[in-house]
Parts: sequence; C-alpha cells; structure tokens
Amino acid sequence: MASLTVQQFINKIEEQRSLKETNAASYKEIYYIVCSILNEFISEDWKQTSDQVRSSMAKRVYYISMEFLIGSLLKNNLLHYNLLTVCNDALLELGFDPEKVYEAEHDPGLGNGGLGRLAACFLDSMASLKYPGIGCGIRYRYGLFEQKIINGYQTEFPDDWLKEIYPWELRKDEDSVVIEYGGNASLYNNESGNLSCKYSGTEKVRAIPYDIPIVGFRNQFINTLRLWSAEPVLELNHAKKDNYYDHLEYEKQIEQISGYLYPDDSSIAGKKLRLKQQYFLVAASLRQILNDYRENHSSNYHLLYEKVVIQINDTHPTLAIPELMRILMDEEQFSWSEAWNVVENLFAYTNHTIMSEALETWPVWMVQEIVPRLYMIIEEMNERFCLYIFYNHPELRHKIPQLAIIADDHVHMARLAIVASFRVNGVAKLHTEILKTKEMRSFHSVFPGKFQNKTNGISHRRWLLMANPTLAEFISSIISPVWIDQPCELNQLLRYSNDRELLKELAAIKLANKQDLARYIFKQTGITVNDQSIFDIQIKRLHEYKRQLLNVFHIIYLYERVKENPNLNVMPRTFIFAAKAAPGYHLAKEIIKLIHTVADIVNNDLSIQGKIKVVFLENYNVSLAEKIIPAADVSEQISTASKEASGTGNMKMMMNGALTIGTLDGANLEMEQLVGKHNMFIFGLRSEEVYQHYNLGDYQANEIFQTDQRIQFILNQLHDGLYHTSSFKDIYFQLLQTNDPYFILKDFDSYVEAQHLIDLTFRDQLKWQSKCLINIAHSGKFSSDRTINEYASAIWNINSLK
Ligand SMILES: *Cc1c(COP(=O)(O)O)cnc(C)c1O
Repeated sequence: MASLTVQQFINKIEEQRSLKETNAASYKEIYYIVCSILNEFISEDWKQTSDQVRSSMAKRVYYISMEFLIGSLLKNNLLHYNLLTVCNDALLELGFDPEKVYEAEHDPGLGNGGLGRLAACFLDSMASLKYPGIGCGIRYRYGLFEQKIINGYQTEFPDDWLKEIYPWELRKDEDSVVIEYGGNASLYNNESGNLSCKYSGTEKVRAIPYDIPIVGFRNQFINTLRLWSAEPVLELNHAKKDNYYDHLEYEKQIEQISGYLYPDDSSIAGKKLRLKQQYFLVAASLRQILNDYRENHSSNYHLLYEKVVIQINDTHPTLAIPELMRILMDEEQFSWSEAWNVVENLFAYTNHTIMSEALETWPVWMVQEIVPRLYMIIEEMNERFCLYIFYNHPELRHKIPQLAIIADDHVHMARLAIVASFRVNGVAKLHTEILKTKEMRSFHSVFPGKFQNKTNGISHRRWLLMANPTLAEFISSIISPVWIDQPCELNQLLRYSNDRELLKELAAIKLANKQDLARYIFKQTGITVNDQSIFDIQIKRLHEYKRQLLNVFHIIYLYERVKENPNLNVMPRTFIFAAKAAPGYHLAKEIIKLIHTVADIVNNDLSIQGKIKVVFLENYNVSLAEKIIPAADVSEQISTASKEASGTGNMKMMMNGALTIGTLDGANLEMEQLVGKHNMFIFGLRSEEVYQHYNLGDYQANEIFQTDQRIQFILNQLHDGLYHTSSFKDIYFQLLQTNDPYFILKDFDSYVEAQHLIDLTFRDQLKWQSKCLINIAHSGKFSSDRTINEYASAIWNINSLK
C-alpha cells in the first residue's frame, strides 16, 4: 500500500511543477499533477492485479452496460489509497484549497441516472471485494447533456468531457478489434456438407478500447473498466484521392457510433444509431472476452462458461447473445446445439423496469438491415422457443404472441434475454415479485428456476465515507471503523438511539452540512435559505412516474395556507429539486418550468416570512448528488407504487441520515421492513392497489377533482396561470384527460398528511435525530458490497481472490 508523508507528497508535487515551463499553479494544473502522482501507484498495482488474476486462472465476470456513471475519480482514488488526508494537508500547505483541486475534474456523464450509477457502484464493490470483474461500455464522445436553466426552462448543452485530457484513461491500440455491420449474409453448404455463412458488402468499424482503472478500497486490487471508441478502419491518407470527400463523410459516420449517449433513460424507440451502438458494444466486448479466454485458458470455447460469466445490465446489451451464437457457429464451426449450450450457461440478465414503454423492441427491418446475420439467428431462436412452448407447455399456446421473441414485426429484447439467460434478476424484492407474478408471469412458469432477486445497493465508500466525512468520522468514533469493511456493522449504532449527547452531535453534523449546502445554493442561485429549516429533497431524473408533480402540488397547497394565515404554525421548509428531463419529453420540461415558476413566487413573497423556499439546482449529476445528499433531512421517494423498480437515491439519503417520505415502492419497502413504519413516512396506494385500479378501471381522477377543494384550487391555478404568470395547461389536461395514470390526485391527501407528520416530528429534534440514527444503523444492507456478494455466489459462481 502506498504510504507517503505530507512532506513527501509536497515534494512530489513540487518536483512535477518544476518540470513545467511555468511553475504550474492553476487548479487544473495541480489537478493533473496529483492525478499523475496517483497514477504511478495505480499502474503498478493494476499490472500486478492482472498478473494475479491470470495466474489464479480464476473465473471472471464481464459486466456489460451501455452506461457507467462513474463520477469524479481523483478524490475517490485518493481515499482508496488512504492518501486523501495526506494529499489534503499537502495541498493546504502549498496554499491550494483541496476541494477546488478535486472540483477541477470533469465528472464524465456516461450514464443517464440510476442504471449507470448502479453499474459504477458495482465496479467499486467488485474491486473492493477482490472479485475479478471487468466493466464493458462505450466511450461516448459526448456524455449526457449539461443542463442550464434559462428563464425557468431547461436548455441542453453538450458535455464535451474530452475537450481536455482525461487523465484516468489508457488507450490500448494493441487490443483494438474490427466490427462489421450490414451487408448480406447467405447460407450455403460447405465442402464438408455443413451449413456455413458467407458475408458480403459489410461496413467495417474499428473499436479502440480505453481502459480506466477501478481502484479497490485499500487492497491494491485494481479492476478495469473498458470503454470502446469507434474509429474508421481505413486511415484518411489511405483513401483514394477522388473519394476524398466521401471518405470524410464515412469517417464522420463511423465516429458517430460512439458519438453521444442517448439522453432518454427509459424509452429509446426506433433509433438506428442506438441499435448500432448496442451492437458495437457487444461485438467489441465479445471479441475481447474470447481473446482473454484464449490467452488465459484455452482456444476450445465449449467450456467458456466455466471461466467466464457475462452480466447484461438491462436489455441494451442483449445482442451479445445472438452475436456469440454467430461467432461460435460461423467462425468456430459449432453446431446450433453446441453453441446454444455455451450461450445458455453464460449470460445472466438484469431487468430494470416493468414499464411497458421502457421495454425495448426493435423493428424487424432495422435489425435485418444493421445485423442481418444476427437476425437470422434470432429468427431461429424464436422458432425453436415457440415450438418448445407449443409442445411442452400446451397451457400457454394461446399466449405465444405475448411470449415470442419476434412478434408484431418487432424483436422483443427482454424476451430474447429471458429465453437465453441462465438467470434473470429483478432489482428489489417487490420488483422481482411483480416480474414473477405479473409482468413476466408466463415466462416464470416456463423457467421457474431462472428468476431471482438482487436488491440494488450503493457504494458506502463513495456515498458516506467520501461524500460525508464528518458523519463517517462520527460513526467510527462510536463503533470503530469496522463498518467500512463490514457495512452491516452499522447496526451497532442502534444501541445509541437514545443517547442524547450523541444525537445532539448528529444534529450538529447535519446542520453543518446544511450550512455548506446553503452556501452552495446561494452561490449558484442567489437564493438565501434558512439552515434551520427542514431540507426536503427530491433529486432524480424528471419523470411522471417519479411524481415531482405531487411534491409541487404540496408546495402550492402549503404556500396557500401560509399566505392565508401568516401566523400558521408550520416548520420552515426548504424544498430542493435537481433533475434532468429527456430533451424530447415535453411534459417533464413543463414540470421543470413549473417548479421554477412556483419558486419565483414563493421565494419572493415577503408576507410568508421566508417560511417556505423552493430551490432548483441545475445539472444534476454525481458530483452534485455528493453535495446535496449529506444535507438532506427529508428524502422524497414518492413514485407511483410498482413503478420504481428499486431506486438507489433512496439508499444514499438513508445512509446519510435523512428520513424518507415515500410510497411502498421499490427498495422503500425493504427499508420499511428494516426500520419499521415509525421511522419512515409512508403514504399512498400500495402496488397491489395500483394494479387493482388498472385492472378494474375504476379510478376516476375527475371525481377527486370535483370533490377535493385543494386539488381544484391547485389545478385551476395551473390552468389559469399561477398567480397570473405562466399557464400550465398541458399539465392540467394531462392529469384530467388521461385520468391521472400515476395517481397523483389519488395520493395527494395521504401525502399531505405524511408531510404534516414530518412537520410535527421535526419539532422534537431528539426524536427526529433518533430516527435518523436508526435509519443509518439499518442502511448497511444497502451497501453494494452486499449486492455484489449475492451476485457472486448465487449467479456468477465466482470467488474473491484472497
Ligand atoms: C443515485 C443517482 C441516481 C438515481 O436516483 P433515483 O432516486 O434512484 O432515481 C440518478 N442520478 C444520479 C447522478 C445519481 O447519483
């Protein structure tokens, strides 16, 4: 383990500064210098880890994902090398503010939200627990857009994260591979009488890997995140002169494949380039997987699954399945059943959603055009599967159209993934139950052993130890740092849930974090907030099912009550939002504008004496989450029950001592089972009730509108223009004409009641802090270390390298 004194660290920095032409002094320059100091340690340990993994002949997991939202790495890597304090002291001594050095890093937006962040937490846990695990993803030239709010509206700007050198990546030209698209595939009988496949007219693309080290926690174990970048196969100077401009055009098109991340986190319908991206990722990754296997084990792929397991994160990488069939049959001369035997023991699939609009399908013509040979294989899989159902499950014959991989001229990716994978998992108990008993019920009856639950988790290292050092220090001082290696030991805190002195300290830590956030809010928005007020926080992608609108309705209602009666005894509140909306999601963008409109009115109304403030922080990303979460009193997890598969923001805030107001949805349900309903604020319809309303069709939003004065008041304001400013007719009509599909009006009453209970509970600070401590104490279950250990033993069958 690297160990440096402060003086040695200073010397190293000074040494590098002296090598520069001018004595490097900007924060950016210091940032690069500290990265390079750390990279010296990393490169040695990285090599050693790869030697160790190779010589152990250990089985490896490849985690394929279209998104890895890794966050900034300098501070995290320093922490993992136990050099954070030393570095902080060295920087201070040299006259630099350490936080400014860390903030000089451009946080790469290579993911939309929860799914990508989950993949990053998983990598962190695999490395920290010494599991040989490789992340496979795309090195998007542009990450998720940067959000700026202009005049209350979201405006998108490019995330040009590679404009400056990204110091953590290593380009590996020697590992580049060539991928082929399109053209024609035709079958013929070869000289030995077997069916072979011939390709013609394909378009070739080079995939270049860039490796990023994933540093384990103080264990000198370093895994790899490999991100692929698309480049032309032919160099420009090899192109024929008369084709010069055609060639430039071709280069531009090729580079587009890894050009940008699609900014919609739940429905990317019919975008050819997206399908190309998916094939690019899986084809390149599979080439690497097979090369690794051949180098380390054997060139006989029949037993590939004994040394390799591939986890596909949602359906986006599902084309890996037919692609491996193709390679094994067309290049390795496997028969269908030999190839299938490898495939069906190799892949495991994680389902992330049950919302039908988010279940991926691709038009048949598009799959045929982009990956013609894969389409032939998918057709064959489909035929075999349908025949299997027909003969072996006659009770499901009438359901074949809902089970078939190809139906309605579309390829259904989730069905393909379920049929071919040896395990399918949901991401929280409730979600997995819904998959098994409702959405995937027939598949579950055909493959009962395939379905498992793996409740999501978060890295307690990043989200507590790094993001909230004062709380982490406080916890260690009470129960020793044992929780850092064994997060479940946090439950030792339960013994102190009535310790007045400790609870006061806990409150003081929260207050200091709130003061930090208050300063940040002022700097960013010019809004002054009361640090004694309840910090009530909803930060996540903007989606109707996440119901930011319900939160806003409560604010409008509360504001009206205080306005009517300025002496009303309510606890001061600061409502804080952060959220990006998909650029094409009109309603989501309207809701952002609504939040700003309400904020303008409320924040500037002197008559309410600052009792309510509304803040929207722009450009929600990992770095911003790290700033906000340690300051949360209240965590808003208010999705329509059954819609949020798990959530992970809920876990981050629980671990930082916020109390949750939430529906019994996703992992909230498991939080409630741990802490009990008295330590959360649960409200609203349950998942079963939501399903019942859908099935019976008996919900009438209009009825509530007619009978509930509060709702009528709020909706009419939206329609007529909030206090004569902007009008939000689209939101109004969406709620009433489509019968409020997310039950916002239905849950409003119980939400208001739960909010009222928060107001009352917060007044008794000892009681409040005691609940916070109980939540922290139970949050160990939600460490992604627990999740990864479960994947390793129950799905991957891999061992940790001791
Ligand atoms: C954790 C996280 C998410 C997921 O939040 P949910 O509340 O679970 O939707 C999304 N984006 C970022 C940047 C995160 O850190």
